[in-house]
Amino acid sequence: MTREDLAKTLENIAQLLELKGENPFKVRAYRGGAEVVNSFAGDIVQKAKDDDLKGIKGIGDALQQKLHELASTGKLEYYENLKSEFPDTIFELFSIQGLGPKKVKAVYEQLDVDSVVKLKEAAESGAIAGLSGFGKKSAEKILEAIEFRETNAERFRLGDVADPVEMILDALKSHPDCLRCEAAGSYRRSKETVHDIDILVATDKPESIMRFFVDNDWTESVLVDGGTKSSIRIADGLQVDLRAVSNAEYACALAYFTGSKEHNVAMRGRALSRGYTLNEYRLAPKEGSDREAPDDFQDESALYEFLGLDFIPPEMRENTGEIEAAEEGELPKLIERENLRGTFHNHTTASDGRNTLAEMGDAAIELGLQYLGIADHSKSSFQANGLDEERLRSQMAEIADLNAKYTADGVKFRIFSGSEVDILRDGSLDFEDDLMAELDYTVASVHNAMTLSESEMTKRILSAVENPHVTMLGHLTGRLLLKRDPYAVNVSEIIDACVETGTIIELNCNPWRLDMDWRWWKHATEQGVKCSINPDAHRCSDLQFLHFGIQIARKGWLTRENVVNCLPLGEVEELLERA
Ligand SMILES: [Zn+2]
Ligand SMILES: [Zn+2]
Repeated sequence: MTREDLAKTLENIAQLLELKGENPFKVRAYRGGAEVVNSFAGDIVQKAKDDDLKGIKGIGDALQQKLHELASTGKLEYYENLKSEFPDTIFELFSIQGLGPKKVKAVYEQLDVDSVVKLKEAAESGAIAGLSGFGKKSAEKILEAIEFRETNAERFRLGDVADPVEMILDALKSHPDCLRCEAAGSYRRSKETVHDIDILVATDKPESIMRFFVDNDWTESVLVDGGTKSSIRIADGLQVDLRAVSNAEYACALAYFTGSKEHNVAMRGRALSRGYTLNEYRLAPKEGSDREAPDDFQDESALYEFLGLDFIPPEMRENTGEIEAAEEGELPKLIERENLRGTFHNHTTASDGRNTLAEMGDAAIELGLQYLGIADHSKSSFQANGLDEERLRSQMAEIADLNAKYTADGVKFRIFSGSEVDILRDGSLDFEDDLMAELDYTVASVHNAMTLSESEMTKRILSAVENPHVTMLGHLTGRLLLKRDPYAVNVSEIIDACVETGTIIELNCNPWRLDMDWRWWKHATEQGVKCSINPDAHRCSDLQFLHFGIQIARKGWLTRENVVNCLPLGEVEELLERA
């Protein structure tokens, strides 16, 4: 039972109660409880196990009991009974973008729709368009959302799979029959979303490793139970494949199963042109060739070296020029987590964050950072409790006090006063220039009116870029991975403008965003754009998103020189003063 499991169960209960038309206060209590569980600062699961939830605001007696039962037994009878009144497919409906609880209730009650399949039928037949409160337009929207869901089915965000995958890897690595073990595939290449997980293990005893892998607590269902390859599903339906090879085959197998397909094709072509065949197990002389090949490669570097290449980091293996660069000895030295000295764009309780300014500062210090940029929402983002001029000024004073305290305590750390300023629909900004000039920096972001045409949206963002008080652009395309497509915008034009004005572009490393997309970064930095790797943290633990930011930055070929928050405090202060 994790925090997420507890919160999810409460949310599911709220949804089912709402469907049943229960008292809205009761529904709200469960929904509010889910939010409290999600954001509680502390080990809420342990507290629930210990029946120690008294006094937590937003969790009444009834919820306390249920959370205790759930955390201590792994099941909740009340929920099981409630669920049994509906088909399992009912929850699919809640995952359809734009279909809120009220609409789910309407289609369920009036059209007997209790699955996505039936929803699609009802939308296509015109039945939904005929319902009061719907209409033709919303029926079309529903069909679009269903299509989006279908194309993204069985894909997972990198950030959502990282924990379970690393746990399985750790367990395999400590198994006595495991010689070497690594994740391969798109996970190793740090793709922003993955379809499944490929793990490779070198062993002399494949059967024993396979048994351990398949017959484990993490297995929810077994798809293939084989001697050297097995496939299972773990929580949330994520498919994990394990392949066992000999230690001699490991290097070729790891390169092969890491991919990408395009990179492998180029590598095979390269081997062929040199008189060798390369497959998932070995490199061998081509038939009829008088070449000799080593029996095995110690590791991937040896294989790359044999083919006349520098070692290519897995993140770069997309056949977008990495092989040519490796041949010339011109691969960039990719950024590493240790290079980060600080970070920008973080929220506090002043807007929609969960931790206070001081708590965020402490967390950043604990991570070894030298500075932290705060950028709470501006007033137009009222749904996120955005700050008006007065509240922003008082936050600036609070930050100055805190910085004075760090100095007095001899802590080499600084908080930068910033704001995530809304780029309004017409391209103007949410604050006057005078106020922005008083801030250390600003992040300008789009949070509303996302359906403008490409030319309007591009113009809108370009006017923000042209404002000299805008330090950086936040989450450039507004995408939410597997949930919301990027809005229409001409990224290339924005990049060119940022080169002109010296505006930094953010790599937002919230795993839902990872925006600007890695495919643009090589081009952007070649033009001279600087990157800031920002977690957009809404709580202390979100600072860990920096980890995903680094992965994506590496995938975009970024070096420490491209990234402003690799600068030490003194230099970043100079940079912000100049900007
Ligand atoms: Zn934002
Ligand atoms: Zn933000």
